[in-house]
Amino acid sequence: MPVPLVIQCAITGSIDPDRERRPNLPDTPAAIVAEALAAWRAGAAVIHLHAREADGTPTQDREAYRGLVTALQDAGCEAIVNLSCGSAGGRAVRDERLGPLELSPEMASFDCGSINFREQLFEGDLPFLRRMGHRFREFGVRPEVECFDTGHVGLALQLRDEGLLDDPLVMQFVLGVPGSGVPATVAMVEHLRAMIPAHWPWSVCAIGHAQLALNTYCILAGGHVRTGLEDNLWFRRGERATNAALVERIGRIAAELDRPVATPDEARAILSV
Ligand code: ZN
Repeated sequence: MPVPLVIQCAITGSIDPDRERRPNLPDTPAAIVAEALAAWRAGAAVIHLHAREADGTPTQDREAYRGLVTALQDAGCEAIVNLSCGSAGGRAVRDERLGPLELSPEMASFDCGSINFREQLFEGDLPFLRRMGHRFREFGVRPEVECFDTGHVGLALQLRDEGLLDDPLVMQFVLGVPGSGVPATVAMVEHLRAMIPAHWPWSVCAIGHAQLALNTYCILAGGHVRTGLEDNLWFRRGERATNAALVERIGRIAAELDRPVATPDEARAILSV
């Protein structure tokens, strides 16, 4: 039997709100919660969240994250909640990014190095990565190690060797980010997964139209998938997506390919959460 497929849905991301260009992107706390619940009900075992102010402005404020997490709990959401330790679109730098860890979520993103991200430099120097590793430990949060480049995988292995990240690491390969220079190709997926031990769970998130193709490849190749509007706003050319519609489609494709879909509790076992 193949390992059940963990479907993660990245609900909103941290791009600046622009309701004319991105009318389907949930960018208020209430809309983020509604889309997250719909994605969970559609089959997502992991919900990846970024927080936003009431006007849609991305924020790393702990209390903004608390509002989202509490609302999901109150609604009975059973999915693993994976909070972002990103930069809220450049508004938070290094340790300012780590406030969500204080809520002790089951998972949070551990961006494993520096990268050019769109027009900005996304900073992840080694002393900061070590501090981040300690903070994840302190609050008992399972890191999802986001690797935007091959060098990030090398840093993840180094932090494992230094005892700051626990084996097996949960890897998220992030491909096709504009400005990052790492293309969203099958060759790159295979290169990255060849760098890690075979027993580590790995997933791919790919930006824009590459999302569906690489999600499908990962279903076949034994990886896991991240879908959602953070990475791709379109269901198909000319038709805007919802988070739940993207999750449902992955579930249909997995069924056709005889890959069972993990429940949240199965995902907890697979990801050692
Ligand atoms: Zn994110």
